Amino acid sequence: MKIHEYQAKELFKEAGVAVPGGVATQSVEEAVKAAEEMKKNGTELFVVKAQIHAGGRGKGRTKKNNAKGVILCRSIDEVRKAAESLLGDVLVTIQTGEEGQKVKTIYVTDGVDIEKEFYLGILLDRAVSKNVIMVSTEGGVEIEKVAEETPEKIIKEWVEPGMDLAPNQARRLAFALGFEGDAFKKAVKFIMALYNFYVEKDADMVEINPLVLTPDGDVLALDAKVTFDGNATYRHKELLELRDESEENPIELEASKFGLNYIKLDGNVGCMVNGAGLAMATMDIIKLSGGEPANFLDVGGGANVETVKNGFRIILEDENVKAILINIFGGIVRCDRVANGVIEAIKDPEIAKKVENVPIIVRLQGTNAEEAKEIIDNSDLNVISAVLLKEAAEEVSKVIAA
Ligand code: GDP
Ligand code: MG
Repeated sequence: MKIHEYQAKELFKEAGVAVPGGVATQSVEEAVKAAEEMKKNGTELFVVKAQIHAGGRGKGRTKKNNAKGVILCRSIDEVRKAAESLLGDVLVTIQTGEEGQKVKTIYVTDGVDIEKEFYLGILLDRAVSKNVIMVSTEGGVEIEKVAEETPEKIIKEWVEPGMDLAPNQARRLAFALGFEGDAFKKAVKFIMALYNFYVEKDADMVEINPLVLTPDGDVLALDAKVTFDGNATYRHKELLELRDESEENPIELEASKFGLNYIKLDGNVGCMVNGAGLAMATMDIIKLSGGEPANFLDVGGGANVETVKNGFRIILEDENVKAILINIFGGIVRCDRVANGVIEAIKDPEIAKKVENVPIIVRLQGTNAEEAKEIIDNSDLNVISAVLLKEAAEEVSKVIAA
């Protein structure tokens, strides 16, 4: 589960992780008011930041006003203009795709002078089953590029889950970044507090890019990207309130309400599968047969009429879908029941209309697979049956080529 930068920074503040001050708002007037308050306290630099669930805002541009997603302002008037140019416009960044993301909220922050920019990330290193803290002196730039071109510039410390981050590890990281004196102490405190936050809140990723050192020797998170482990949100009801559904892919959101595990992809072959592993294998088969999967969809164990219907509805909301491959393994669920479910689902008038020009290839394997094939073959619907995955793949390539 993703949250906005301003929400992450509010949580950081509670956790003792240093951040600049700021006010999130959805109105130009409030943005101006917030800046006026900051000015009273001596602020001369303001930063107006679009709040969307994507990074790369500084280099992104809005569609209508061609405004940057992060705007540095030297006066109240500039803050007003920045707020006007962002609110309601659509911001396109390297992470949003061409369609961009509408800016509904902006964050007016107390701008800080930057002496040095760093990178700091915490996530799970799946290869070694440990949490990893990564830092780099190459902050403010794309860390993926650093990882590829100069991996030696990323310094890592691993922590066994269930263990605390040892102070000497935090010191090693702060030292690697070149911190000295008072700033060194602040950096150590920052890293310790951030790691505790990551563990306590069941975050699965925390990324600060840039982490900055100010000329006054302060160490602050200038940016904050945080995602939480969706399987642990039941332990953090307060975090669920931070969820902004309007930022999520509408089809994925709808699928989650049906209890379906759906992820939209860019291809043209929709797939409906029971079990995540089989779904992955099915996507591989689609690729091997020359198609591109339009989605990942795991309908779970009990593929009944209702789940199949909902699966169809979700898949067919994607206009790129040219064919659908249903791949169900009947272990607990019987294939003949699934076959009847598929046929009944296709007869639903709403679905029937949409699948007129979308061939459906069904591969059912397992308990009562033969009966299932007969049911499919004897129906006069636009459904092709296959027994082997290879046959299913061949059918997919035929319909894609047609
Ligand atoms: P991102 O582009 O979505 O990663 O957004 P960031 O929050 O990282 O902001 C982009 C860039 O704007 C940063 O890398 C900084 O260089 C700059 N920036 C953001 N806030 C401030 C600030 O308070 N002062 C200064 N001088 N620059 C800032
Ligand atoms: Mg950033």
